Amino acid sequence: MLDQAEYPSGWEIRGDLVCLLCARSVASAQGPADQRFAPSTIRVRLPEYTESVRRMRCPFCAGRLWLQDTEDVYVDRRPLDAQDLRPRRGRPPKLANAS
Ligand SMILES: [Zn+2]
Repeated sequence: MLDQAEYPSGWEIRGDLVCLLCARSVASAQGPADQRFAPSTIRVRLPEYTESVRRMRCPFCAGRLWLQDTEDVYVDRRPLDAQDLRPRRGRPPKLANAS
């Protein structure tokens, strides 16, 4: 069990949840890179997909969802401190001439 004050950071796996039958991508999932992938975050493309995605089923054809196009991402979950949140002084540098 993790201590409350501990914010796990490290490598995670991120990928798209894609239907095996119709190949639609309906959500993306992310979670710790473990032996058995258990996503801690799932983002659905549309709110009405949520119920199907929770059952790992495609909202269109009820096909099985599968994790595809996975990538390793490094996650730093430490909260920002007051120093990080302080606004920067002065004007931001000009990016382009406004005409
Ligand atoms: Zn489908």
